[in-house]
Amino acid sequence: MQGLMQNQQLLISNLIEFAARHHSDAQIVSRRVEGDIHRYTYQDLCGRAKQLANTLDAMKLAHGDRVASLAWNGYRHMEMYYGVSGSGRVLHTINPRLHPDQVAWIVNHAEDQVLCFDMTFLPIIQAVHAKCPTVRQWVALCDADKLPADSGIPGLISYEAWIGGQSPHYRWPQLDENTASSMCYTSGTTGNPKAALYSHRSTVLHAYGAALPDVMCLSSRDAVLPVVPMFHVNAWGLPYSAALTGAKVVFPGPALDGKSLYELIEAEGVTFAAGVPTVWQMLLGHVQQNGLKFRTLNRTVIGGSACPPAMIDMFEDTYNVRVLHAWGMTEMSPLGTLGTLKNKHLDLPKAEQRRLLQKQGRCIFGVDMRIVGHDGKDQPWDGKTYGDLLVRGPWIIDSYYKGDSPLITDEQGLGWFPTGDVATIDADGFMQITDRTKDVIKSGGEWISSIDVENIAMGHPAVAMAACIGMPHPKWDERPIVAVAKKPGAEVSREELLAFFEGKTAKWQIPDDVVFVDAIPLGATGKMLKTKLRELLKDYKLP
Ligand code: ADP
Repeated sequence: MQGLMQNQQLLISNLIEFAARHHSDAQIVSRRVEGDIHRYTYQDLCGRAKQLANTLDAMKLAHGDRVASLAWNGYRHMEMYYGVSGSGRVLHTINPRLHPDQVAWIVNHAEDQVLCFDMTFLPIIQAVHAKCPTVRQWVALCDADKLPADSGIPGLISYEAWIGGQSPHYRWPQLDENTASSMCYTSGTTGNPKAALYSHRSTVLHAYGAALPDVMCLSSRDAVLPVVPMFHVNAWGLPYSAALTGAKVVFPGPALDGKSLYELIEAEGVTFAAGVPTVWQMLLGHVQQNGLKFRTLNRTVIGGSACPPAMIDMFEDTYNVRVLHAWGMTEMSPLGTLGTLKNKHLDLPKAEQRRLLQKQGRCIFGVDMRIVGHDGKDQPWDGKTYGDLLVRGPWIIDSYYKGDSPLITDEQGLGWFPTGDVATIDADGFMQITDRTKDVIKSGGEWISSIDVENIAMGHPAVAMAACIGMPHPKWDERPIVAVAKKPGAEVSREELLAFFEGKTAKWQIPDDVVFVDAIPLGATGKMLKTKLRELLKDYKLP
């Protein structure tokens, strides 16, 4: 027997219609590329997203065609989230920090037909446009009077001129909820980029999941600052979850330095912010150096790479900002787990609570996980035994765009996505990432977690950033060394740092050496790029 409820499809256009109707005056505030602050409401955003949808219809762009963005976090980018996907096209967010050759490669692979870019990225477009034959319209995300006369890009038009003549009224198509809505290429830290192709259904379900109290706990009382870029897995879904809850949104544009972020947080009453650890390091550096406090910020989601415990301590103990440590992947829309305590943990001593919150957290409903050994058998959830982490759920990838399915099938015929991460899970379901499979250090038949080594090193007050890699060793196979970038003006010697490890980890897990570097190489999404570090240290010999 079938249920007798309305079969309304889960569509991205429903999110913005809801926000425009029920939170019509909630604000979207953006620091623009031009440097000024732009401010309007969900109602305004919805009208302009509809103008964009009308523009794409006028171009006769078919449903499913790809419209690309190369843009910072801002209101026009959010209009694209709704206008492109809502009208049945696929939004392809491109990471501008990729090499121009990679940008051209993915534009061609995705067969983008329109590409909208912030003026910051004009040089990239000038370098790649002739190599991108599928693109029939280049659009500069700027005011009409800011368009350069001699860009060299054929047919270049400003976004304002492009959508300006269109009506703000539009009837969103009633799509099947499994229709593709947006796509995002993995940052390619391993091999060629591969694309996850999200659907309306996966996006809306993820938006619900992300907003839950034990996840980001978003509400219409929040002012949300997505520092995580909109080209990095849809800013972790925040442009959708914010509309779903009616939260105010504050976009930082290109100004991601500590001072600019701090000023925006204070001026706009930001309560909730999201970003990778490297960005928060800059913010905390600024706040510390200038003896500042946060007036309204009360929680921040940190993920994308392991959040050093010292950062959690600093946010919580000095600034009274709750850190929500989250884990996910491009292939997972991206949220998988997030760390919050259960009722039974509330009476634990603070240090024990903190140890739980340092982990990558518990599954969100919608994500199921397992850890398996090399034989494919499930490992116990004892918080100690590690295994390859597998996940499944309605917002987790089935197949790559124009690619194979990476799934592993279990005895019941269910498909699981192998994350490439190694993890432990404890009896309460708290997952802790030990490493990426390729970064684990194998020493004398035992594994050493590079993340553990980095976390200890980053607890030293003179260390700005630390990256641990394995070096070939004749007896032990591999031994860890740690590359360290010091904080400006701070001093620490190799011997002092090695001594700092004593008592904090088993003796054999202490790195064999410390190598001081000016900066740890970072990838396109702000993560440590260990492949590059290994290249830099290719002539290095263990002591
Ligand atoms: P890419 O795979 O191209 O680096 P993703 O953003 O999809 O881009 O990266 C996902 C990976 O990032 C995860 O598989 C995991 O290794 C790492 N990661 C994400 N969040 C965390 C976290 N909180 N702690 C440790 N590692 C993390």
